[in-house]
Amino acid sequence: MITVGVVGYGVIGRRVADAVSAQPDMQVIGVVKKKPDYKAKLAISKGFSVYAADGESRKMFEDAGLQISGEIKDLVSEVDIVVDASPGKVGASNRDVYRSLGKKVIYQGGEPADVADLSFVAQCNFEKAEGKSSVRVVSCNTTGLCRLLNALDTNFGIDKARVVIIRRATDPDEPGKGIIDAVSLDPVHIPSHHGLDVNTVLPHVKIITTAVKIPTTHMHVHTLMISLKDSTATKDQVIDVLNGTTRILLISSKDGFKSTGQVFDYARELGRWRSDMYELVVWKDSINIIDGEIYLYMGVGQEAIVIPEVVDAIRALIGGYTRDESISMTNKTLNILKYKA
Ligand code: NAD
Repeated sequence: MITVGVVGYGVIGRRVADAVSAQPDMQVIGVVKKKPDYKAKLAISKGFSVYAADGESRKMFEDAGLQISGEIKDLVSEVDIVVDASPGKVGASNRDVYRSLGKKVIYQGGEPADVADLSFVAQCNFEKAEGKSSVRVVSCNTTGLCRLLNALDTNFGIDKARVVIIRRATDPDEPGKGIIDAVSLDPVHIPSHHGLDVNTVLPHVKIITTAVKIPTTHMHVHTLMISLKDSTATKDQVIDVLNGTTRILLISSKDGFKSTGQVFDYARELGRWRSDMYELVVWKDSINIIDGEIYLYMGVGQEAIVIPEVVDAIRALIGGYTRDESISMTNKTLNILKYKA
Protein backbone atom coordinates (compact mmCIF):
# COMPACT_ATOMS: atom_id res chain seq x y z
CA MET A 1 0.00 0.00 0.00
CA ILE A 2 1.20 3.51 -0.85
CA THR A 3 0.88 5.62 2.30
CA VAL A 4 -0.39 9.15 1.69
CA GLY A 5 -0.57 12.33 3.82
CA VAL A 6 -3.02 15.05 2.73
CA VAL A 7 -1.93 18.55 3.76
CA GLY A 8 -5.00 20.83 3.69
CA TYR A 9 -8.57 19.58 4.03
CA GLY A 10 -10.56 22.18 2.09
CA VAL A 11 -12.27 21.96 -1.32
CA ILE A 12 -9.50 19.83 -2.89
CA GLY A 13 -8.02 18.08 0.17
CA ARG A 14 -11.36 16.59 1.30
CA ARG A 15 -11.97 15.15 -2.17
CA VAL A 16 -8.41 13.84 -2.45
CA ALA A 17 -8.67 12.08 0.93
CA ASP A 18 -11.84 10.24 -0.12
CA ALA A 19 -10.56 9.41 -3.62
CA VAL A 20 -7.25 8.06 -2.28
CA SER A 21 -9.09 6.00 0.35
CA ALA A 22 -11.11 4.41 -2.49
CA GLN A 23 -7.96 3.10 -4.25
CA PRO A 24 -7.02 -0.55 -3.70
CA ASP A 25 -3.30 0.33 -3.58
CA MET A 26 -3.35 3.46 -1.38
CA GLN A 27 -4.04 4.42 2.20
CA VAL A 28 -4.53 7.86 3.80
CA ILE A 29 -2.47 8.07 7.01
CA GLY A 30 -3.81 11.48 8.04
CA VAL A 31 -4.81 15.00 7.03
CA VAL A 32 -3.49 18.43 8.05
CA LYS A 33 -5.94 21.16 9.11
CA LYS A 34 -5.24 24.74 10.10
CA LYS A 35 -8.36 25.43 12.17
CA PRO A 36 -10.59 23.25 14.40
CA ASP A 37 -13.73 24.03 12.35
CA TYR A 38 -16.54 21.79 11.06
CA LYS A 39 -14.23 20.43 8.34
CA ALA A 40 -11.78 19.23 11.02
CA LYS A 41 -14.68 17.62 12.89
CA LEU A 42 -15.83 15.96 9.64
CA ALA A 43 -12.32 14.54 9.09
CA ILE A 44 -12.33 13.05 12.60
CA SER A 45 -15.83 11.62 12.16
CA LYS A 46 -14.72 9.94 8.91
CA GLY A 47 -11.87 8.25 10.80
CA PHE A 48 -8.98 10.34 9.43
CA SER A 49 -6.19 11.21 11.89
CA VAL A 50 -5.91 15.01 12.01
CA TYR A 51 -2.61 16.90 12.33
CA ALA A 52 -2.18 20.63 13.05
CA ALA A 53 -0.59 22.91 10.41
CA ASP A 54 1.80 24.48 12.98
CA GLY A 55 2.23 25.34 16.68
CA GLU A 56 -0.40 28.10 16.60
CA SER A 57 -2.83 25.73 14.93
CA ARG A 58 -2.09 22.99 17.53
CA LYS A 59 -3.04 25.48 20.28
CA MET A 60 -6.37 26.23 18.53
CA PHE A 61 -7.14 22.50 18.40
CA GLU A 62 -6.23 22.05 22.07
CA ASP A 63 -8.38 25.04 23.09
CA ALA A 64 -11.29 23.58 21.10
CA GLY A 65 -10.83 20.21 22.83
CA LEU A 66 -10.23 18.37 19.52
CA GLN A 67 -7.81 15.45 19.62
CA ILE A 68 -4.94 15.70 17.09
CA SER A 69 -2.19 13.23 16.23
CA GLY A 70 0.62 15.79 15.95
CA GLU A 71 1.80 18.51 13.58
CA ILE A 72 2.51 18.54 9.83
CA LYS A 73 6.09 17.18 10.27
CA ASP A 74 4.80 14.18 12.22
CA LEU A 75 2.42 13.23 9.40
CA VAL A 76 4.96 13.86 6.62
CA SER A 77 7.59 11.69 8.31
CA GLU A 78 5.15 8.74 8.40
CA VAL A 79 4.11 8.63 4.71
CA ASP A 80 5.52 7.63 1.29
CA ILE A 81 4.05 10.67 -0.45
CA VAL A 82 2.40 13.99 0.41
CA VAL A 83 -0.50 15.64 -1.40
CA ASP A 84 -0.27 19.34 -0.56
CA ALA A 85 -3.76 20.86 -0.94
CA SER A 86 -3.15 23.95 1.16
CA PRO A 87 -4.30 27.38 -0.11
CA GLY A 88 -2.49 28.80 -3.18
CA LYS A 89 1.18 29.77 -2.50
CA VAL A 90 1.11 28.12 0.97
CA GLY A 91 2.31 24.85 -0.57
CA ALA A 92 5.55 26.51 -1.66
CA SER A 93 6.14 27.60 1.94
CA ASN A 94 5.68 23.98 3.12
CA ARG A 95 8.32 22.77 0.62
CA ASP A 96 11.24 22.92 3.10
CA VAL A 97 9.41 20.53 5.44
CA TYR A 98 8.89 18.00 2.61
CA ARG A 99 12.47 18.36 1.33
CA SER A 100 14.04 18.02 4.77
CA LEU A 101 12.20 14.70 5.23
CA GLY A 102 13.00 13.58 1.66
CA LYS A 103 9.37 13.00 0.64
CA LYS A 104 7.76 12.96 -2.77
CA VAL A 105 5.11 15.69 -3.12
CA ILE A 106 2.13 16.61 -5.27
CA TYR A 107 1.30 20.32 -5.28
CA GLN A 108 -1.85 21.98 -6.67
CA GLY A 109 -2.47 24.51 -9.42
CA GLY A 110 -2.49 27.57 -7.13
CA GLU A 111 1.27 27.17 -6.66
CA PRO A 112 3.82 28.70 -9.06
CA ALA A 113 4.91 26.23 -11.78
CA ASP A 114 8.49 26.15 -10.47
CA VAL A 115 7.39 24.75 -7.09
CA ALA A 116 7.68 21.26 -8.61
CA ASP A 117 9.77 19.30 -11.13
CA LEU A 118 6.83 18.89 -13.55
CA SER A 119 3.35 20.32 -14.28
CA PHE A 120 1.10 17.26 -14.60
CA VAL A 121 -2.03 16.09 -16.45
CA ALA A 122 -2.19 12.27 -16.49
CA GLN A 123 -3.26 11.71 -20.08
CA CYS A 124 -0.69 14.23 -21.39
CA ASN A 125 2.51 13.46 -19.53
CA PHE A 126 2.16 10.62 -16.96
CA GLU A 127 5.45 9.02 -18.06
CA LYS A 128 7.44 12.24 -17.55
CA ALA A 129 6.87 12.03 -13.78
CA GLU A 130 9.02 8.89 -13.54
CA GLY A 131 12.00 9.47 -11.25
CA LYS A 132 10.84 12.98 -10.26
CA SER A 133 10.39 13.97 -6.63
CA SER A 134 7.47 16.38 -7.13
CA VAL A 135 4.74 17.35 -9.59
CA ARG A 136 2.18 20.15 -9.69
CA VAL A 137 -1.30 19.03 -10.75
CA VAL A 138 -2.33 22.08 -12.78
CA SER A 139 -5.45 24.15 -12.04
CA CYS A 140 -9.00 23.09 -12.93
CA ASN A 141 -9.16 25.26 -16.07
CA THR A 142 -5.70 24.21 -17.22
CA THR A 143 -6.54 20.53 -16.66
CA GLY A 144 -9.70 20.82 -18.80
CA LEU A 145 -7.86 22.69 -21.55
CA CYS A 146 -4.97 20.20 -21.58
CA ARG A 147 -7.30 17.17 -21.87
CA LEU A 148 -9.09 18.70 -24.85
CA LEU A 149 -6.16 20.35 -26.64
CA ASN A 150 -3.90 17.30 -26.25
CA ALA A 151 -6.55 15.11 -27.93
CA LEU A 152 -7.05 17.55 -30.82
CA ASP A 153 -3.34 18.30 -31.24
CA THR A 154 -2.40 14.60 -31.30
CA ASN A 155 -5.01 13.84 -33.96
CA PHE A 156 -5.16 16.96 -36.15
CA GLY A 157 -2.31 19.30 -35.09
CA ILE A 158 -3.28 22.64 -33.54
CA ASP A 159 -2.17 25.77 -35.34
CA LYS A 160 -3.59 28.18 -32.73
CA ALA A 161 -6.19 28.01 -29.93
CA ARG A 162 -8.08 31.05 -28.68
CA VAL A 163 -10.14 30.61 -25.52
CA VAL A 164 -12.57 32.84 -23.59
CA ILE A 165 -12.93 31.53 -20.02
CA ILE A 166 -16.06 32.43 -18.07
CA ARG A 167 -15.19 31.62 -14.48
CA ARG A 168 -17.27 30.90 -11.40
CA ALA A 169 -16.74 33.73 -8.93
CA THR A 170 -16.03 31.52 -5.92
CA ASP A 171 -16.58 28.01 -4.51
CA PRO A 172 -19.90 27.17 -2.80
CA ASP A 173 -18.31 27.12 0.69
CA GLU A 174 -16.75 30.61 0.35
CA PRO A 175 -19.61 33.02 -0.45
CA GLY A 176 -17.69 35.93 1.10
CA LYS A 177 -15.30 35.93 -1.90
CA GLY A 178 -18.08 36.21 -4.47
CA ILE A 179 -19.11 39.03 -6.76
CA ILE A 180 -22.75 40.18 -6.96
CA ASP A 181 -24.55 41.61 -10.01
CA ALA A 182 -21.39 42.26 -12.02
CA VAL A 183 -19.03 40.68 -14.51
CA SER A 184 -15.47 41.04 -13.31
CA LEU A 185 -12.67 41.21 -15.90
CA ASP A 186 -10.15 38.96 -14.18
CA PRO A 187 -7.59 39.82 -15.37
CA VAL A 188 -8.25 42.96 -17.44
CA HIS A 189 -4.89 42.28 -19.07
CA ILE A 190 -4.97 40.02 -22.16
CA PRO A 191 -3.83 37.24 -22.33
CA SER A 192 -4.79 35.74 -18.97
CA HIS A 193 -2.32 33.37 -17.28
CA HIS A 194 -4.31 30.24 -18.24
CA GLY A 195 -2.75 29.82 -21.69
CA LEU A 196 0.75 30.18 -20.24
CA ASP A 197 -0.16 27.53 -17.69
CA VAL A 198 -1.32 25.16 -20.48
CA ASN A 199 2.17 25.62 -21.96
CA THR A 200 3.74 24.20 -18.78
CA VAL A 201 2.16 20.85 -19.85
CA LEU A 202 1.84 21.28 -23.64
CA PRO A 203 4.69 23.69 -24.52
CA HIS A 204 4.21 23.34 -28.30
CA VAL A 205 0.50 24.40 -28.39
CA LYS A 206 -0.04 28.04 -29.39
CA ILE A 207 -2.84 29.38 -27.16
CA ILE A 208 -4.23 32.77 -26.13
CA THR A 209 -6.74 33.02 -23.26
CA THR A 210 -8.92 35.72 -21.72
CA ALA A 211 -10.97 35.37 -18.52
CA VAL A 212 -13.97 36.98 -16.82
CA LYS A 213 -15.73 36.05 -13.57
CA ILE A 214 -19.49 35.83 -13.16
CA PRO A 215 -21.68 35.44 -10.03
CA THR A 216 -22.03 31.64 -9.94
CA THR A 217 -20.42 28.94 -7.80
CA HIS A 218 -20.76 25.79 -9.94
CA MET A 219 -18.50 25.33 -12.99
CA HIS A 220 -16.48 27.38 -15.42
CA VAL A 221 -17.50 27.57 -19.11
CA HIS A 222 -14.96 27.98 -21.92
CA THR A 223 -15.62 29.14 -25.51
CA LEU A 224 -12.90 27.74 -27.77
CA MET A 225 -11.81 28.70 -31.28
CA ILE A 226 -9.09 26.40 -32.58
CA SER A 227 -7.43 26.52 -35.98
CA LEU A 228 -6.02 23.16 -37.08
CA LYS A 229 -2.99 22.18 -39.14
CA ASP A 230 -5.13 19.48 -40.80
CA SER A 231 -7.59 21.59 -42.83
CA THR A 232 -9.45 18.44 -43.97
CA ALA A 233 -10.70 17.57 -40.45
CA THR A 234 -14.47 17.16 -40.21
CA LYS A 235 -16.93 17.76 -37.39
CA ASP A 236 -17.64 14.02 -37.14
CA GLN A 237 -13.93 13.23 -36.83
CA VAL A 238 -13.59 15.78 -34.02
CA ILE A 239 -16.59 14.23 -32.24
CA ASP A 240 -15.10 10.72 -32.64
CA VAL A 241 -11.75 11.85 -31.21
CA LEU A 242 -13.37 13.52 -28.18
CA ASN A 243 -15.68 10.53 -27.64
CA GLY A 244 -12.62 8.28 -27.60
CA THR A 245 -10.71 10.44 -25.11
CA THR A 246 -10.79 9.49 -21.44
CA ARG A 247 -12.27 11.97 -18.94
CA ILE A 248 -14.07 13.95 -21.65
CA LEU A 249 -17.86 13.62 -21.66
CA LEU A 250 -19.92 14.76 -24.65
CA ILE A 251 -23.33 16.14 -23.68
CA SER A 252 -26.08 17.61 -25.84
CA SER A 253 -28.71 20.33 -25.59
CA LYS A 254 -31.07 17.82 -27.29
CA ASP A 255 -30.97 15.91 -23.98
CA GLY A 256 -31.72 19.10 -22.05
CA PHE A 257 -28.17 20.19 -21.20
CA LYS A 258 -28.57 23.90 -21.95
CA SER A 259 -26.61 25.35 -19.04
CA THR A 260 -24.28 24.42 -16.20
CA GLY A 261 -27.44 24.05 -14.10
CA GLN A 262 -28.44 20.85 -15.90
CA VAL A 263 -24.86 19.51 -15.77
CA PHE A 264 -24.85 20.02 -12.00
CA ASP A 265 -28.30 18.44 -11.73
CA TYR A 266 -27.06 15.43 -13.75
CA ALA A 267 -23.97 15.16 -11.55
CA ARG A 268 -26.21 14.98 -8.48
CA GLU A 269 -28.06 12.04 -10.06
CA LEU A 270 -24.81 10.12 -10.65
CA GLY A 271 -24.73 9.44 -6.92
CA ARG A 272 -21.07 10.37 -6.53
CA TRP A 273 -19.63 12.04 -3.44
CA ARG A 274 -20.68 15.71 -3.32
CA SER A 275 -22.18 15.59 -6.87
CA ASP A 276 -18.63 15.72 -8.22
CA MET A 277 -18.07 16.01 -11.99
CA TYR A 278 -14.58 14.63 -12.70
CA GLU A 279 -15.02 14.73 -16.49
CA LEU A 280 -14.53 17.73 -18.75
CA VAL A 281 -17.95 18.20 -20.37
CA VAL A 282 -18.12 19.30 -24.01
CA TRP A 283 -21.39 20.32 -25.65
CA LYS A 284 -21.48 18.01 -28.68
CA ASP A 285 -23.96 20.18 -30.56
CA SER A 286 -21.79 23.28 -30.06
CA ILE A 287 -18.96 21.64 -32.03
CA ASN A 288 -18.65 23.24 -35.46
CA ILE A 289 -15.98 23.80 -38.07
CA ILE A 290 -16.10 27.14 -39.87
CA ASP A 291 -13.31 28.18 -42.29
CA GLY A 292 -11.02 25.47 -40.93
CA GLU A 293 -11.55 26.52 -37.31
CA ILE A 294 -13.20 24.38 -34.60
CA TYR A 295 -15.67 26.17 -32.33
CA LEU A 296 -17.05 24.60 -29.15
CA TYR A 297 -18.28 25.16 -25.58
CA MET A 298 -17.00 23.15 -22.65
CA GLY A 299 -17.62 23.09 -18.89
CA VAL A 300 -15.18 22.53 -16.02
CA GLY A 301 -16.43 21.34 -12.61
CA GLN A 302 -13.79 23.26 -10.69
CA GLU A 303 -14.01 21.37 -7.41
CA ALA A 304 -13.54 17.87 -8.83
CA ILE A 305 -11.83 17.82 -12.24
CA VAL A 306 -8.31 17.62 -10.76
CA ILE A 307 -9.09 14.79 -8.30
CA PRO A 308 -8.43 11.84 -10.70
CA GLU A 309 -5.25 13.65 -11.79
CA VAL A 310 -3.99 13.76 -8.19
CA VAL A 311 -4.64 10.02 -7.77
CA ASP A 312 -2.73 9.28 -10.99
CA ALA A 313 0.07 11.66 -9.96
CA ILE A 314 0.61 9.54 -6.84
CA ARG A 315 1.15 6.40 -8.98
CA ALA A 316 3.25 8.31 -11.53
CA LEU A 317 5.66 9.55 -8.84
CA ILE A 318 5.83 6.26 -6.92
CA GLY A 319 6.45 4.31 -10.16
CA GLY A 320 5.65 0.78 -11.29
CA TYR A 321 2.43 1.61 -13.19
CA THR A 322 1.81 2.48 -16.83
CA ARG A 323 -0.30 5.51 -17.65
CA ASP A 324 -3.20 3.39 -18.87
CA GLU A 325 -3.10 1.06 -15.84
CA SER A 326 -3.32 4.01 -13.48
CA ILE A 327 -5.99 5.91 -15.42
CA SER A 328 -8.15 2.82 -15.67
CA MET A 329 -7.84 2.02 -11.92
CA THR A 330 -8.72 5.62 -11.03
CA ASN A 331 -11.61 5.78 -13.51
CA LYS A 332 -13.05 2.53 -12.19
CA THR A 333 -12.88 3.50 -8.52
CA LEU A 334 -14.33 7.00 -9.12
CA ASN A 335 -17.00 5.71 -11.55
CA ILE A 336 -15.77 7.97 -14.34
CA LEU A 337 -18.00 7.32 -17.29
CA LYS A 338 -18.75 7.89 -20.93
CA TYR A 339 -22.18 9.32 -21.65
CA LYS A 340 -23.39 8.86 -25.23
CA ALA A 341 -24.68 12.26 -26.43
P1 NAD B 1 -9.25 25.70 0.61
O1 NAD B 1 -9.04 27.06 1.16
O2 NAD B 1 -10.62 25.21 0.38
O3 NAD B 1 -8.51 24.62 1.55
C1 NAD B 1 -7.20 24.82 2.03
C2 NAD B 1 -6.94 23.93 3.24
O4 NAD B 1 -5.57 24.13 3.67
C3 NAD B 1 -7.81 24.18 4.45
O5 NAD B 1 -8.19 22.94 5.00
C4 NAD B 1 -6.89 24.90 5.45
O6 NAD B 1 -7.22 24.57 6.79
C5 NAD B 1 -5.53 24.30 5.10
N1 NAD B 1 -4.40 25.16 5.44
C6 NAD B 1 -4.38 26.52 5.59
N2 NAD B 1 -3.13 26.93 5.89
C7 NAD B 1 -2.35 25.83 5.91
C8 NAD B 1 -0.96 25.61 6.15
N3 NAD B 1 -0.13 26.62 6.46
N4 NAD B 1 -0.48 24.34 6.08
C9 NAD B 1 -1.30 23.32 5.79
N5 NAD B 1 -2.62 23.46 5.54
C10 NAD B 1 -3.13 24.70 5.61
O7 NAD B 1 -8.38 25.65 -0.75
P2 NAD B 1 -8.72 24.80 -2.05
O8 NAD B 1 -9.76 25.49 -2.84
O9 NAD B 1 -8.88 23.38 -1.68
O10 NAD B 1 -7.37 24.99 -2.89
C11 NAD B 1 -6.21 24.23 -2.59
C12 NAD B 1 -5.28 24.27 -3.80
O11 NAD B 1 -5.95 23.64 -4.91
C13 NAD B 1 -4.90 25.67 -4.30
O12 NAD B 1 -3.60 25.61 -4.84
C14 NAD B 1 -5.91 25.94 -5.40
O13 NAD B 1 -5.47 26.89 -6.33
C15 NAD B 1 -6.01 24.55 -6.02
N6 NAD B 1 -7.26 24.30 -6.74
C16 NAD B 1 -8.46 24.74 -6.26
C17 NAD B 1 -9.62 24.51 -6.99
C18 NAD B 1 -10.95 25.01 -6.51
O14 NAD B 1 -11.87 25.13 -7.33
N7 NAD B 1 -11.15 25.31 -5.26
C19 NAD B 1 -9.57 23.81 -8.20
C20 NAD B 1 -8.34 23.31 -8.64
C21 NAD B 1 -7.18 23.58 -7.92
